[in-house]
Order: sequence, then C-alpha cells, then structure tokens
Amino acid sequence: MPGGAHKINAKPLAPTLEPIARGVWLMRGGLPKRTMNVYLLVDGGGVTMFDAGISDMAKPLGEVAERMGGLKRVVLSHSHADHRGAAPGLGAPVYCHPDEVADAEGDGGLHYFDLTKLDSPVMQRAYPHLLKLWDGGPVSVAGTLSEGEDVAGFEVKHLPGHAPGLIGLWREEDRLALVSDTLYTLDPDSFLTPYGPPRVPHPAFTPAREQARESLRKVAALDPREVWSGHARPVTGDVRRQLEHAADTT
Ligand SMILES: [Zn+2]
Ligand SMILES: [Zn+2]
Repeated sequence: MPGGAHKINAKPLAPTLEPIARGVWLMRGGLPKRTMNVYLLVDGGGVTMFDAGISDMAKPLGEVAERMGGLKRVVLSHSHADHRGAAPGLGAPVYCHPDEVADAEGDGGLHYFDLTKLDSPVMQRAYPHLLKLWDGGPVSVAGTLSEGEDVAGFEVKHLPGHAPGLIGLWREEDRLALVSDTLYTLDPDSFLTPYGPPRVPHPAFTPAREQARESLRKVAALDPREVWSGHARPVTGDVRRQLEHAADTT
C-alpha cells in the first residue's frame, strides 16, 4: 500500500542520546554528520543543558529535557552559532561567562571570524550559509558564570582563546572535562576526512590562538580521564599527553 510505504519512509530519525558518565547525557545533532554535541546534565529534579547546538535541534532537545524532568537552564560554553543555535527556541534562562555576554546577545562572534584563513575554497563559500542556517539568533542572557562556580556538580573553568568567554566544565570525582571548542577533534577545513587527533581550534574561528593554547594546557594540567568537546569524538587514553602535544604542535 503506497500510503503505508510513505509513512515508513517519512518516519523521523530519533534523536541520538547516549549516556557518557554518571548524570551526563550527550545528544548529537546537525548535518551532515551529527557532529554538534549538546550535553544534558541531571540537575536536581530536572536538567541543565551545556551548549544548545544548532537551531533545528531545539525540538528534539526540548522533548528530551521534558522527559528528564524539565529544562532548568541553558549554559552556553560560548556564543558561536553552532552552540547557541537552539537556545532561543528552548524557552529556558540562558547563562554564560561575563566575557561572552555581548556576543551571545549580539552576532555570535561573527565580527572576529576570518573565513579567508580556511584553505578550502568550498568551505570558505559554505560557512556563511552554514552559520546562518545553524544560528537561532541573539539570546537574552539571564545570568553569568565565572571560574570556580558550580554547575550541576561540575566546576566552571574559564578557557579563553577560541572565544573570550569560553567556559568548560570539570568534575574532579571522575576526572571528566566537558571543554567545548577548547579543542577540535575534527578539521572544519576538510569535508572528506574531517576527524583526527585533538588540535587547537581552527584560526578562522579563533581570534586569540596563543591564549587558546594556554587554555588547552590548563585542561591538560587537570589530568582528565576523558575530555568531551563541542564536536565529534572525545579524547580518551593518555589524555594529558595528547592535549600537551596538541598545544605544542598544532
Ligand atoms: Zn566555537
Ligand atoms: Zn563549535
């Protein structure tokens, strides 16, 4: 029956949600390869979201947060389009570092991106469209979070460089670090073979790369067991050595 076949084909993909540690769930989203990472942290009877991915993740994120007891707040690691994208559509108070407020309420850091630093002409042409597609627009910041403050059992770490107010979350108890774009495990300049070892984020999107290296060394010095970033795969194994190597050589 044609109608039946159509229904099967039109069935939406279930959002991928995976547990990565006690009280921490990861939702991957975005095209083309689900490389946008959003972390849902069990927080009292509800959930705190660390980053908000891209705009079209708002619906699945909202539904999942509802099933987890309701969304208490969104904490942005930084203001870039692929991190604040779904935030305006979620209807929860948004928090970020004081140094990130202006860009979160403004252009999402666009004013310091330099796409001419991308080697690939294809990516140079694609990014203005992608960023527009991903962004949900300016957010209204309800409050700020600085170094040492608590977020759902994690400690805020200020990791500037890729963005002035970039923050990561650190949990000593199981030595878990959620560091967003403090490092990349993919190459935004490559479409075909994007994945690789950790590296300092790409210069096209990183206004202060020396500072970004220092922030990566700051994460390494915590000697994490596992580091999860804003995109794609985590860093596991000999994490400290890999991060120091990335800071020294990339
Ligand atoms: Zn970023
Ligand atoms: Zn990013």
